[in-house]
Amino acid sequence: MRYLVISDIHANLLAFDAVLADAANAFDKIWCLGDVVGYGPYPNECVERLNEFDHKCIAGNHDWAVLDKLDVTEFNLNARFAVLWTQKELKPENRAYLESLPLYLLEDEQFTLVHGSPRHPIWEYILYPKVAQLNFKHFETTYCLVGHTHSPVIYAEAENPGSTSEAIIPESDTFVQHLNARRLIMNPGSVGQPRDGDARASYALLDTETMEFTIKRVPYDVEKVQAKMQRHDFPAKLWNRLAFGY
Ligand SMILES: [Zn+2]
Repeated sequence: MRYLVISDIHANLLAFDAVLADAANAFDKIWCLGDVVGYGPYPNECVERLNEFDHKCIAGNHDWAVLDKLDVTEFNLNARFAVLWTQKELKPENRAYLESLPLYLLEDEQFTLVHGSPRHPIWEYILYPKVAQLNFKHFETTYCLVGHTHSPVIYAEAENPGSTSEAIIPESDTFVQHLNARRLIMNPGSVGQPRDGDARASYALLDTETMEFTIKRVPYDVEKVQAKMQRHDFPAKLWNRLAFGY
């Protein structure tokens, strides 16, 4: 089976559509790792686009915040603006869709899907090899797919107990990780708000026959998204950052 693995679309329809066009004919099904909404100006459109495809999706912290399942005072002011704006904009049927999302999924026997980490699926950021290493105890499958940090990376479990995991950072526009028996935590990066200094949308393709996980980048019309955010009086920091990828 061929999967399009995406995370953190964050209501950025133009980035999402660029990914779908770039990956066209290369996948059978979508796995989405949460945060479909929040930050961006197209929440309804992104939920509706995702639902045009055969897909599985889990909940992220921004999805929960929009549903009032998290206290928005824990968000910074800019993120909170976007949560409150999204609450006003979201159609009831799209809110119901977000309500239906689980926190964990086990797919294709070998893959655990969570937003943040298997230890704390909503909140924890796996930003360091040490944190990744601790998380290998918290899932049973060979592979775990996560999002939440908005930076593509692969962590390979340490061979020896007591040592730390290895972080593999994709350094080319198309980066292929071969899946063998070694346990991995894999993050495809963010579709709608990358934070690794590259403004292009990030996504992955997973082929469970060739056992390859390929992380890719694709440009989209950042200025058009920024203009829509400006029309809706989004804070400058939220639209500025899209141009820099942070
Ligand atoms: Zn996010």
